[in-house]
Amino acid sequence: MLTGKVALVTGSTSGIGLALARAYAAQGADVAINGLGDPADIERERQAIERDFKVRAHYAAADMTKPAEIASMVAEVETSFGRLDILVNNAGVQFVSPIEDFPIEKWDQILAINLSAAFHAIRAAVPGMKARKWGRILNTASAHALVASPFKSAYVAAKHGIAGLTKTVALETATFGVTVNAICPGYVWTPLVEKQIPETMAARNLTREQVINDVLLHAQPTKAFVTVEEVAALAVFLASDSAKSITGALLPIDGGWTAQ
Ligand code: NAD
Repeated sequence: MLTGKVALVTGSTSGIGLALARAYAAQGADVAINGLGDPADIERERQAIERDFKVRAHYAAADMTKPAEIASMVAEVETSFGRLDILVNNAGVQFVSPIEDFPIEKWDQILAINLSAAFHAIRAAVPGMKARKWGRILNTASAHALVASPFKSAYVAAKHGIAGLTKTVALETATFGVTVNAICPGYVWTPLVEKQIPETMAARNLTREQVINDVLLHAQPTKAFVTVEEVAALAVFLASDSAKSITGALLPIDGGWTAQ
């Protein structure tokens, strides 16, 4: 159980992040959610967490492209809950295009949200974790932190970058009861994956069925999408005391993709 702990999950208004926030709340942690979306939908999700799990849930509206807002979000969580024990850097976006046409603003946006945002949040959260001698930092990386695919230059670069950040901060915090790990999912059925289907159809001149079967599930030996519940279960384990010796690890949950 995580009763008494406080978790902040970035990019948790949807997909994997929302499942992670709900899973931590189910273990008794108070949670702060973050991400974009319709304010009424976000407030409904926030209230549902409080109602379903009898914990406190807070919404932090920081834009993950804005370093100052990220630092303020960490401070806001520490002030309103008194601590921050579990930080999950999960917010992420994708864009699929050949390198020669890759829009420069998409490169900048993906690097900002998928990589630099984690640096800013970790930088702000580590002092409190070190002082309390307990912390869990999880970065939602990707199989693309370990291997590449064509047409995803910014995403693969950012995810390989977060692998390096994970290992570095793990070394810096190892004697403080703080672990830092990256979860590396294969394809998980979320809005992020749905959105890249038309882009991949255009980039590779394929039908929707061909993209799902020949591109996405082609990479995954199990021929099945990973579920958000499976990713959440791993995130809960990594936050537990049983996982205190797992640090600096890049953990695939990818149906065998990166074993090939
Ligand atoms: P998703 O689109 O469902 O969720 C992304 C979240 O990030 C949303 O809450 C969104 O509001 C938030 N976000 C985006 N831009 C933001 C910004 N500027 N500021 C604040 N929040 C912002 O996608 P998902 O599939 O759940 O992805 C979550 C993470 O998992 C990402 O880091 C993604 O790269 C990673 N991942 C996903 C898959 C997959 O197959 N779905 C596989 C491997 C890794």
